[in-house]
Amino acid sequence: MGCVFCNIIAGTEPAATIYEDDQSIAFLDIAPLAPGHTLLVPKEHYSSLAPMPAEYQGALMATASRLAVAVMKAVKADGFNLLVNNGTCAGQVVRHAHIHIIPRFCLDTLVLPPPGGRPPSQEKTRDIMDNIKQRLDGTLS
Ligand code: 5GP
Ligand code: ZN
Repeated sequence: MGCVFCNIIAGTEPAATIYEDDQSIAFLDIAPLAPGHTLLVPKEHYSSLAPMPAEYQGALMATASRLAVAVMKAVKADGFNLLVNNGTCAGQVVRHAHIHIIPRFCLDTLVLPPPGGRPPSQEKTRDIMDNIKQRLDGTLS
């Protein structure tokens, strides 16, 4: 029981660790969507990315993008996706914040992100813009 990623961080659960610093650890996903599929995980337990302090989030994202370049080169990928499933309805299964680094190959069959999406009405766009902007007031400065 408990949190599987906390167990990996504590060393009581095995993992193919490829990187570690004071704040984070990265290991290969046990069920990779592509060779080199990596999970970057904050060492402190947060249920998802959203409740993490901004500085911690920022440090994690910076590490993720640097790590992703190394992973991409190591598996000779053509690109990568950084993916965060935040919340059950977004596909989050492990309730410890993590960022997926998924190497991508020009000929792979992953559909990530899926195609689609249609432009909403101007009114809807304006409503959503205003709503988001109001909620951002002061939170990003
Ligand atoms: P989520 O859907 O929560 O964003 O993704 C969780 C990821 O963690 C999945 O891709 C899954 O394969 C991976 N995972 C779950 N348990 C373990 C584990 O014990 N070890 C490793 N290395 N990966 C795990
Ligand atoms: Zn945990």
